[in-house]
Amino acid sequence: MAVRGSLLSDTWSALVDLVLPAECAGCAAAAGHGGGLCADCVAALAAARPARVRPQPEPPGLPRCVALAAYAGSLRAAILAYKERGRHGLAGPLGDRLADVVAAAVVPGPVLLVPVPATATASRDRYGDHMLRLARRAARALTRRGWQAGVACPLRARPRPDSAELSSVDRLRAAEAAFVLVPGRLAAVTAAVRGGVRLVVVDDVVTTGATLAAVAARLRAAALDVQVAAVLAATQRRVSAR
Ligand SMILES: [Zn+2]
Repeated sequence: MAVRGSLLSDTWSALVDLVLPAECAGCAAAAGHGGGLCADCVAALAAARPARVRPQPEPPGLPRCVALAAYAGSLRAAILAYKERGRHGLAGPLGDRLADVVAAAVVPGPVLLVPVPATATASRDRYGDHMLRLARRAARALTRRGWQAGVACPLRARPRPDSAELSSVDRLRAAEAAFVLVPGRLAAVTAAVRGGVRLVVVDDVVTTGATLAAVAARLRAAALDVQVAAVLAATQRRVSAR
């Protein structure tokens, strides 16, 4: 049911993107094209160079984290339009750039992208699981470039409390409790990892790093090592030099 609903809303979004001349999701000025971005915003995204980021303070267990750019400007606007306003056509340009981040973060070889899972509520509010869709697009882009790339979903998200009023320690604890392993999916992922496939956790924005650390911890608990996390954007003050 959920999958069917998500497919329908994907189809609907694609139709809306085609029929309505959407304004650019990155700058709101020019008419959008190429997945909903104007030529200037496409060029700005293409010019961004992935770099390592380190949240301060760095949560324990955070894997090496590489981001395309700071969470600002047209990238921030495009991410918000994609996940909060159902502009699914942006999965194209954003997913392709996520593939660039993965390619910059690990040496070429077989990879499985593990999207940070969305809660059922978030999926409903956001017209489908936005990170799963981005991860699939990124895996396809990597495959076109000759990589052996796929998507694995060995975790699911539990409903979580509103974290706005939590202290940073409580937030870390809440993040750790937010994900559970899906037993039925572990065997295939474990077999792939034993066969030399690397796991890359992917997400849209890194802020405190608590979510990525929690995902890595859950996977480690199942003896699955996460090499690196690849994200589109990092909140600005946390972007550091390589
Ligand atoms: Zn634009």
